[in-house]
Amino acid sequence: MKREHEAVGETVEEKTIHDHELIIVGAGPAGLCAALYAGRSEMDAVMIEAGFPGGQLLLTELVDDYPGLENVGGMELAQKMADHAKKFGVEPTRGHVQKVRREEDGHFLVEVEGGTVYRAPAVVYTAGGTPRPLDVPGEKEYMGRGVSYCAICDGAFFKGEDITVIGGGDSAVEEGEFLTRYGSSVTLIHRRDELRAQAVLQHRFLKNEKTEVVWDTVVEEILGDGENVTGLALRNVKTDERSELSTTGVFIFVGFTPNVAVVDFHVEHDSAGYIVTDRDMRTDVPGFFVAGDVRSQLIRQITTAVGDATTAVFAAEKYLQDLEEGHGAGAEAPAEARETQAV
Ligand SMILES: Cc1cc2nc3c(=O)[nH]c(=O)nc-3n(C[C@H](O)[C@H](O)[C@H](O)COP(=O)(O)OP(=O)(O)OC[C@H]3O[C@@H](n4cnc5c(N)ncnc54)[C@H](O)[C@@H]3O)c2cc1C
Repeated sequence: MKREHEAVGETVEEKTIHDHELIIVGAGPAGLCAALYAGRSEMDAVMIEAGFPGGQLLLTELVDDYPGLENVGGMELAQKMADHAKKFGVEPTRGHVQKVRREEDGHFLVEVEGGTVYRAPAVVYTAGGTPRPLDVPGEKEYMGRGVSYCAICDGAFFKGEDITVIGGGDSAVEEGEFLTRYGSSVTLIHRRDELRAQAVLQHRFLKNEKTEVVWDTVVEEILGDGENVTGLALRNVKTDERSELSTTGVFIFVGFTPNVAVVDFHVEHDSAGYIVTDRDMRTDVPGFFVAGDVRSQLIRQITTAVGDATTAVFAAEKYLQDLEEGHGAGAEAPAEARETQAV
């Protein structure tokens, strides 16, 4: 550990720098899995997490699609993953990362609120993302009890029921179509009179006999009986007419924000802001590896997050070995291996 003084305007701020081999940003499923493998490999790794370990698992009532753990609670799975990582010696260090910088010598500086700075030649960045909420009464109250942000995760809980999807972009329409395999009906609520989704997705959705679109309409409240969702209070934005819709499953797709704002250098990303990697989780910045929901990819699940993280740690380990042996370019992604998948 080393202390450095950095001039900030008139004042001089003292920063404590902790040196490590590897910094893991985030302790969701991807970060916790990265910690487990880094610990098993006896790497000198630190994992920094702003909140409690588990990430989006903490928003998940029940997980029914993680192999070997049927119907496990989100919190329970988060705790199991955190305990498992701890067993191999890497525990989450509490801290809100404010900036990830890259120095000229290729080291990364991860600055945490309060002035602590971590430095390492490699980073596995797993800051995930955040589903954008609708911000209406009832949404928080019924999250996991009828309100969901993930069709693949929760669709099967609504077999034979009336499902409602909110949104009008690609995700809403694509996930809405996916939900027709479970719901007896899927009603899409959209605030405009046309969808933003790609024509091919719209066509697929609209031609399905289970689907219906309620145009020019916004959700004012998610209604429930104290236990579960029972319906929606709606308002037509053109006529101001109010109505109620009976439904038990409300899937909200009004946006998902990848947590990339703290990355202070240019790294290739797709049009939605997700970071692009090759198949070994390498980005176009040597030493900067990315895993989980923050990565540009087809699907975002717990299984994909932990798969990514496993690969990322081994790629980072190889990068560090190459550096040690003097092959500094060990992390350059071969052009032919790069893949850019728009989300
Ligand atoms: C309601 C809901 C239900 C879901 N159900 C399922 C399901 O049943 N099955 C399934 O497979 N998937 C499900 N998912 C998706 C799954 O939870 C995600 O794919 C998975 O959590 C992604 O893991 P991650 O580690 O990449 O990111 P996240 O889980 O988003 O974790 C990222 C972590 O990074 C931390 N972080 C972010 N920024 C900073 C910062 N600046 N400083 C420090 N820490 C930071 C966050 O606090 C968070 O803990 C669900 C998602 C939601 C929202």
